[in-house]
Amino acid sequence: MLKRYLLAPGPTPVPPEVLLAMAKPIIHHRAPEFAQIFGEVREDLKWLFQTTNDVLIFASSGTGGMEGAVSNFLSPGDKALVVNGGKFGERWGKLCKTFGVQVIELKVEWGHAVNPQAVADALKKDPSIKAVFVQASETSTGVAHPTKALAEIVKLHDGTILVVDAITALGVFDIQTDAWGIDVVITGSQKALMLPPGLAFVSVSEKAWQMADKTKNAAFYFNFKKERESQVKNQTAYTPAVSMILGLQEVLRMLKAEGLENVFLRQTRLAHAMREGAKAAGLSLFPKESPSDALTAICSPDGVDGQAIYKNLRVQYGMTAAGGQDHLKGKIFRLSHMGYMDSFDVITALAAVEMVLKGLGHSVKLGSGVAKAQELLMA
Ligand SMILES: *Cc1c(COP(=O)(O)O)cnc(C)c1O
Repeated sequence: MLKRYLLAPGPTPVPPEVLLAMAKPIIHHRAPEFAQIFGEVREDLKWLFQTTNDVLIFASSGTGGMEGAVSNFLSPGDKALVVNGGKFGERWGKLCKTFGVQVIELKVEWGHAVNPQAVADALKKDPSIKAVFVQASETSTGVAHPTKALAEIVKLHDGTILVVDAITALGVFDIQTDAWGIDVVITGSQKALMLPPGLAFVSVSEKAWQMADKTKNAAFYFNFKKERESQVKNQTAYTPAVSMILGLQEVLRMLKAEGLENVFLRQTRLAHAMREGAKAAGLSLFPKESPSDALTAICSPDGVDGQAIYKNLRVQYGMTAAGGQDHLKGKIFRLSHMGYMDSFDVITALAAVEMVLKGLGHSVKLGSGVAKAQELLMA
């Protein structure tokens, strides 16, 4: 038997309470019982998103929410500023092009966070830009972009909205949708929300809804206005992922019981222990600045193939991490600590990494990273 440990930055482990909730018999989505549950999760999502705006729920992976955030607010020929500092930033560009949106790309070197001044300058240079697309946490590099500073800049432009992919940020660190003035915030179920893959969530500000009134792009399933008409009545336009909604209800109850502040504190503590543990094991971190608390991207040591680390973790020790993407393939590996995670997940991950590195012939002192994490995580 090989016990499995899921430490990839999505999908992430699902708590047993949530698995049990999802195993309940299916209820009909037009029955009052469902409407009552849907009403509860809609309210709790507003709490999680720190907004009074409606948070729409779709049966799709996170990318479905991203797609809708392009097609519902922008028309063919409109201009968008896309912050591209990794694989997911790149995805914003591809989505915009799919819907005929002109992309002005703000390239950010992988491992770095966007400089807010560069966004301010781009908007000043071309005030016809209708939207700024960014990741709060760029999962391919493990870097967090400065969402709050970007919101302060975009807020000054009446005709521009800020769209934030917060798929590995919401529920990990503070994203104050209303207080900071973020127009559109997107997340998915299988990252910090501790659910299986299959749900996308999108909050929409009044400014963005007004833009949606003017858009000429086509959307059918991801038609936000149509979906809102149903969801404010605690219904969905089409059949919802009923079991996932039951799981979501449980997740939101768990998060509320812990409290948002405590969730962020736990995530910060784990991220700090993972980073310091990796460093104590002689490893260096890939982010050059502003590491995301959702996951840690670690450079493979000289002479060790990052893909081999990732593969041996899985094959020898049952631990699923993630490798690097594109030009980072073989150069980094990534370990998640978002969602249903606690001290011993970080300690276990560091222990396995040390064992794999030693097994690959790299000189590492067993227990060096583990000891550092233990020190930092002691009660
Ligand atoms: C996981 C992820 C997504 C969405 O990916 P899906 O596979 O469509 O769920 C988007 N952005 C970021 C930053 C992610 O980490």
